[in-house]
Amino acid sequence: MRPQPVPYDGGARPTLAVFKLASCDGCQLTLLDCEDQLLAVAGRLDISHFLEASSAVRPGPYDLALVEGSVTTPADAERVREIRSAARFLVTIGACATAGGIQALRNFADVEEFRATVYARPDYIATLTTSTPVSAHVPVDFELRGCPIDRGQLLEVITAFLAGRKPDVPNHSVCFACKRRGTVCVTVAHGTPCLGPVTHAGCGAICPAYGRGCYGCFGPSASVNLPALIPLLRRDGMSDDDVRRALRTYNAASFAEVEGAPS
Ligand code: SF4
Ligand code: SF4
Repeated sequence: MRPQPVPYDGGARPTLAVFKLASCDGCQLTLLDCEDQLLAVAGRLDISHFLEASSAVRPGPYDLALVEGSVTTPADAERVREIRSAARFLVTIGACATAGGIQALRNFADVEEFRATVYARPDYIATLTTSTPVSAHVPVDFELRGCPIDRGQLLEVITAFLAGRKPDVPNHSVCFACKRRGTVCVTVAHGTPCLGPVTHAGCGAICPAYGRGCYGCFGPSASVNLPALIPLLRRDGMSDDDVRRALRTYNAASFAEVEGAPS
């Protein structure tokens, strides 16, 4: 049975560990970027392993593990199994950990060719032919999307863990958030291509608020209708290649799995 979160009982603080696989560190940085709330988090959790914040490391098991990054090497695959066995509750954070990230572009290409072109000694490089999310390797208790993740949503996930409840992280599209903040639709008003209708909410619809289309950094929402959106993107000036590139930016592997995605 999957481990269940336990509310903080006022006794020993639950332990938090933050791990990184193949990624840019931006999602871990979101935790440090919590500024005003960071001391409160540190007061409720015993931060036992967080190399971006401190070289002091305590061994597991850990109550809550946040994992950033995708699995791109045999060593990653082994490490993520070790992390899983040391973590009671495992949350993956960001596009890399939840969808394979930008590096999943390798899934559509010849990795051997990349290796031979980029490295002077390709035989030194141990890599997998794919970049995959953590959930492809071990059971995950919650996935938090975004490139990078949203600070408010991260705090909500940590708070929910401490309270022993399900995180309140809606999986509707960016369009909902766009309407809620009263932004004029850039597609309807200006003919600007926008992936908001198929993208997972979480950022507060930032890009349309500044007059530009969404480019899908939170990945697919719960209900995606690409056959309806793609003709609109073409109408607004995107070529087939533009559409393919737009859907293969931050969450290439997860958009590729959606019905109607260009091959
Ligand atoms: S601007 Fe984009 S996200 Fe906002 S309502 Fe229009 S299509 Fe949706
Ligand atoms: S690209 Fe889309 S999901 Fe990403 S910040 Fe902009 S509006 Fe939000």
